[in-house]
Amino acid sequence: MRLCRFGNGRLGIVEGQLVHDVTEALDTLTSFRHPFPRHDVLIEQLDALRPRICDLAATAPPLPLESVVLMSPVANPGKLIGAPANYQRHYDEVVADAELHHQQRVAFIHTAGLFLKATSSLIGPGEPITLRKLDRRNDHEVELACVIGARASDVSRDDALAYVAGYCIGLDITIRGPEERSLRKSADGYSVLGPWLVTPEELPDPGALELTLSVNGMRRQQSNTRELILGVAELIEYASSFYTLFPGDVIFTGTPEGVGPIRPGDVIEAAIDGIGSMTVQVT
Ligand code: MN
Repeated sequence: MRLCRFGNGRLGIVEGQLVHDVTEALDTLTSFRHPFPRHDVLIEQLDALRPRICDLAATAPPLPLESVVLMSPVANPGKLIGAPANYQRHYDEVVADAELHHQQRVAFIHTAGLFLKATSSLIGPGEPITLRKLDRRNDHEVELACVIGARASDVSRDDALAYVAGYCIGLDITIRGPEERSLRKSADGYSVLGPWLVTPEELPDPGALELTLSVNGMRRQQSNTRELILGVAELIEYASSFYTLFPGDVIFTGTPEGVGPIRPGDVIEAAIDGIGSMTVQVT
């Protein structure tokens, strides 16, 4: 199943180049009063809603995919988790380039651990990335993004994939400089999630997916998730050993080599095998 959010908060199922509007399925979501849950209640209840979503998708008149504006497939994640230097060749390029490491000691993910990006940085591919700090280098990073589907604490890698709601393409946009990652990667619009959520029965092995990123038609990044130092299951094990993961939490699994600058006017195209591709404007 390929679940998207589009337009003014509508819910859709993507099939080929068509979107079926299944927004009515949201009517059966549990409603809440303040204080609201801090996790994503749609992702939490996705399994229960699935029969209703499928029924609606079968009868909803399809819309052309190209006619809809895609939002982040997860509306209210409680955490956006980042994995630093999780591909060997990206680690090597950061160590070799002062513009990337800014005289900071670069540690492998085993030592550096994980970081958090502000949830207010999250956008979908239909919204532009509006750059800040134009006097500084702003870089693209394409990453496989994993969305958590069930509460997970101290989960072993062997059990970890059972806690996954699905996968998306993630862009971890980054201002280069000496500050903490969490600051440099949390500007509004600097976390892009899209184009839709692909549920695990369509992607049983997240560890063998080609991923690419082009800017203005020029290929910048190309790798495969088999090159991840910590794969999806290991990242869930690691993260859940420090804190509880909640439905809707997103893990950006790290970027391969080839990161490079983006500027206003650029167009980013990112693709991952088994998920699809998305085009994002930079302003
Ligand atoms: Mn990253």
